[in-house]
Amino acid sequence: MTTTDPVLQIRNMKKTYGAVTALRDFDLDIERGEFLTLLGPSGSGKSTLLMLIAGFEQPTEGEIRLDGQDLIGVPAYKRRIGVVFQNYALFPHLTVTENIAFALRNLRWAAGEVTARVAELLRLVKMEGFGERLPEELSGGQQQRVAMARALAFKPKVLLLDEPLGALDRKLREHMHVELRNIHRQLETTLVYVTHDQEEAMVMSDRIAVMNEGRLVRLDTPRELYENPEAHFVASFIGEATIMRLTAAGPGAARPDGGDRHVAVDHERADGTPFHLAVRPEKARLGAPAAGENAIPATVEETLYAGDVTKVILRLSTGEPAIVKLANREDDPALAPGTRTAFVWRPEDGRLLREGPNS
Ligand code: ADP
Repeated sequence: MTTTDPVLQIRNMKKTYGAVTALRDFDLDIERGEFLTLLGPSGSGKSTLLMLIAGFEQPTEGEIRLDGQDLIGVPAYKRRIGVVFQNYALFPHLTVTENIAFALRNLRWAAGEVTARVAELLRLVKMEGFGERLPEELSGGQQQRVAMARALAFKPKVLLLDEPLGALDRKLREHMHVELRNIHRQLETTLVYVTHDQEEAMVMSDRIAVMNEGRLVRLDTPRELYENPEAHFVASFIGEATIMRLTAAGPGAARPDGGDRHVAVDHERADGTPFHLAVRPEKARLGAPAAGENAIPATVEETLYAGDVTKVILRLSTGEPAIVKLANREDDPALAPGTRTAFVWRPEDGRLLREGPNS
């Protein structure tokens, strides 16, 4: 996606809490109308960034612009930014309708407009007929839909969602992924979604901002991040990968660490340069290599049967761990721990990783 029409621009952002630096050197343009997810492990600064955008925290350094307008110093309630938290409890003594209408009444919308807007939002989140219920009469998933409707009521330019599905069980979360995508499709609002769950980020987002230790590691589409991770952190945090350390040994060739055999790798490194290569587990296989395939001897350590796939955890002859995912088919080989085999991949399925700090 080429950057064309950013609704939010974050520049040179830094946030410290005492001795802790929660965000550093942070630049991010969020496109109008996109579903952007901030993804990273706990403590990577996701919530801090959301709080800064919402206006609940002030940055130590840096700028935030919404539609070109500088937001620093603008109070949260004047930002036209909606927020949904995991535990953003609805007002317990107000009905669903009253919860959604609350902000609109404060903004002095005319009664007829409020009624129309509430009806429109109940339709959007598929809660028609629930308007007169109290929050305690709703399931967790339904409460979160009402929280979405309430946050969307005043037509925010950007809706921030901080782990909104964290409290729901897995089945319901998967259902809500589809719902959220549908809701986003019908809205003209930009969604900024925070999660530490990479699967959730992959299925819902137009783009994912991968964060680690307060920094933006990479910003790209889910497909690009998975297919071409570039950074070590992305290769291991998004999905799984076997990461091998190789040494360049002439054009198109490299030596696995500690071995004297060669594998084919499309690289431009100078002879003798160490580098890293990632292979996704469904792209690799076990057994004898066909002509043109790469292979490193490996021993099976564990097989994990997951229904649709079997994950095979291996130890390469270089001492490095490896993983292969086999689709569940009737001819699955028996792979007891200790079985000797080879980790096999096609040269075009290997991905070079960048070296150096922040990679
Ligand atoms: P995430 O949302 O990715 O889990 P956070 O933004 O909550 O990460 O936290 C980033 C870092 O900032 C962490 O080290 C956290 O402990 C620290 N932090 C966040 N909020 C505060 C605060 N109010 N006071 C002190 N440290 C904080």
